[in-house]
Amino acid sequence: MIDVTLESVSKRFARAGDTAAVDDVDISIAAGEFFTLLGPSGCGKTTTLRMVAGFYFPTSGRIRFGTEDVTHRPPNKRDTGMVFQNYALFPHMSVAQNVAYGLKIRKVGRAESARRIDEALGQVHLAGYGDRRIDQLSGGQQQRVALARALVIRPRTLLLDEPLSNLDAKLREETRVEIRRIQQEAGTTAIYVTHDQAEAMAMSDRIAVMESGRVRQIGAPQEIYHRPATAFVARFIGRSNVLDLPVVTAAAETVTVGLPDGSETAVTAPVDHGLRAGDTALVSVRPEHLGLTSPTEAGALTGRVTEVEFTGMATNLVVEVAGEPVQVAAIDVPAGTAVGDQVGLRLNRQRMWVVQP
Ligand code: ADP
Ligand code: MG
Repeated sequence: MIDVTLESVSKRFARAGDTAAVDDVDISIAAGEFFTLLGPSGCGKTTTLRMVAGFYFPTSGRIRFGTEDVTHRPPNKRDTGMVFQNYALFPHMSVAQNVAYGLKIRKVGRAESARRIDEALGQVHLAGYGDRRIDQLSGGQQQRVALARALVIRPRTLLLDEPLSNLDAKLREETRVEIRRIQQEAGTTAIYVTHDQAEAMAMSDRIAVMESGRVRQIGAPQEIYHRPATAFVARFIGRSNVLDLPVVTAAAETVTVGLPDGSETAVTAPVDHGLRAGDTALVSVRPEHLGLTSPTEAGALTGRVTEVEFTGMATNLVVEVAGEPVQVAAIDVPAGTAVGDQVGLRLNRQRMWVVQP
């Protein structure tokens, strides 16, 4: 295991014009960490991972493994294990032959190879499957073979690019737990790419949220969820209401804003919020931090229900407050609540948080 550092890394593709696929990215990943690149399609996740693997070289910037500068080193000289979305297995070869691939390239001897293949298949809970053909295995099993093939070379970093996207929902949830277990047991630094925020939160020590080639925020799942840096992060991680509210007074880590009913409330803000009285603040509040109450309750916002959706665990509602739709996820909703009802909304003011545009 090893720490991985990206310093001001950018990648421009010749044919893609002036826009950078990856734009001035700084990331420090600790040895043994499970680190995820998360963002919508096209934001630069795969390009970033391929630069760590050595399949692409950065246009500018540096990549280090520990103190070694690997920026322009070819993939086979980096000791990275890579797992791709489509697994990239050889379908007519056996499981053992597929897993052996990286060992052959490294000219590992026959006896040592056999031992390491058994070990890798054991790690992914496929002991005894060495002689099966790939096309006789389920999608989930193929995914584990791909993992074993990456692990068998005892990589310093394990790189995974959307490895679960070909699996159905239930298997995806089971397999994400498995990947995390395997990574912990192997003690390898892992860099994981996904566009699925639930997957990222469930698996990662830390997450970098990317948008348009740039890293918008790096943090632990809880931090990114509760203290999103920007409106994009707030909306991309889970769901969120981002309200435009007038700033009444602004202090170091608190901003007092006006609410649609004319009342005021203090909201926590990052130290460098840069807001002043008279500005408009963007305030994020999660649907689960709004509760439904009577429209006459003191301090409640009032609005009209425009959507109601019962999901079992919670009821999702949209309530129009002063012309703006507000999403609410409520565990307890009075029976008979329907579109058109006038309701009160109780804000959990401790959970409101100022974000950047
Ligand atoms: P993600 O993995 O987040 O979906 P990618 O890293 O694949 O995003 O792509 C980021 C951007 O770079 C996209 O606009 C994509 O079209 C572009 N891109 C990726 N690979 C190449 C390439 N080989 N040549 C030209 N443009 C590319
Ligand atoms: Mg990709």
